[in-house]
Amino acid sequence: ETTRKADDKEEVRSYFNTTGFDRWNRIYGQTDDLNSVQLDIRLGHAQTVEKILEMVKNDGPLEGLKVCDAGCGTGSLSIPLAMEGAIVSASDISSAMVAEAERRAQESINEGSILVRPRFETRDLESLDGKYHTVACVDVLIHYPQEKAAGMIQHLASLAERRLILSFAPKTWYYSVLKRIGELFPGPSKTTRAYLHSEEDVEAALKAAGWVVRRRDMTATKFYFSRLLEAVPAAAGSQ
Ligand code: SAM
Repeated sequence: ETTRKADDKEEVRSYFNTTGFDRWNRIYGQTDDLNSVQLDIRLGHAQTVEKILEMVKNDGPLEGLKVCDAGCGTGSLSIPLAMEGAIVSASDISSAMVAEAERRAQESINEGSILVRPRFETRDLESLDGKYHTVACVDVLIHYPQEKAAGMIQHLASLAERRLILSFAPKTWYYSVLKRIGELFPGPSKTTRAYLHSEEDVEAALKAAGWVVRRRDMTATKFYFSRLLEAVPAAAGSQ
């Protein structure tokens, strides 16, 4: 059991550098070589990104704000944030993901739609440091077992000054059943372990770090489920 946990992260890294990269790069891309499950996930994920952009823009312009995108994947959030003028630091445990994010960002730079180049790094999110106005961690908690999730959330909270955006697959009885019967994470995504998280646990971890949830949203398509929380420092939230 202990060895299994120690190997978890290595397994995630290697998955997202190989078969996981191929699968998710296509899902997070624009090509039309997707099956119906993958297409459904692409559309669901795009909705999450759209909701996050709306949430953050709602609070005012992003120009000049330092934003950390932890577990950035192919840059689906980093790139539109940079287009809004945010100073983006993005990182991912997978060097293949990071290289693809850089390639996509370069395209936008060439088109003139990004003025400040996002900084991309291959880095595990536990090793992130610095201070950011906003920290976002989108659909990454799924790779964290329950007992590691709280520590991860608290680490991210320690990097954020004003806003923390987290999305995760919610642990409800319904999704737990779907997961068990293999409906929730069909196909090759099953090759990595997937963890659902209860909203209560996530909120408790935020609370312990001195943060409160200010906005919530949920995206559910047929095969994609993502609970979205925007948290702020407790003092700001109660104003
Ligand atoms: N956040 C991106 C998005 O929404 O487009 C990517 C989501 S993808 C489902 C999960 C990503 O988390 C993968 O790119 C994976 O490499 C990354 N990841 C998993 N564990 C990580 C860790 N410990 N540190 C950094 N990145 C991690």
